[in-house]
Amino acid sequence: MLDDLYQEVILDHTRRPRNFHQMPDATRQAEGYNPLCGDKLKLFVKLDGETIADISFVGAGCAISTSSASLMTETVKGKSRQEAVQIMERFHDLLTTEKPAAANIGKLTVFSGVREFPARVKCATLAWHTLKSALTDAAEVASTE
Ligand code: ZN
Repeated sequence: MLDDLYQEVILDHTRRPRNFHQMPDATRQAEGYNPLCGDKLKLFVKLDGETIADISFVGAGCAISTSSASLMTETVKGKSRQEAVQIMERFHDLLTTEKPAAANIGKLTVFSGVREFPARVKCATLAWHTLKSALTDAAEVASTE
């Protein structure tokens, strides 16, 4: 029953990914690639001080990578950079630990079943790794101003 509900959320975000567009005025961007599956995405982040004011992505990948990127953008929008990194750690824990600590990560729980398919863990975490590099890279997007 629960699995069906999770499956439904993942399918919904695969069919209609949220925040799926380019962002010309992004302050940060990063590209992610998962060669094991062929998932590719480009992430756009608009930072306002320490806050992720806006975030979007484009790309092509499997259902898990696309829905994970979509849910990630919904989850971290409006959060601080530090909060986003904390959520990422809890999400990674959910996917890799047999008995993850009770993690309050909301909708991201739908990916708990991915734990049983180690090859797909990289699909689910691709967007998060890309976010991390977008948030931590010193290099900002080149500006003509
Ligand atoms: Zn994939």
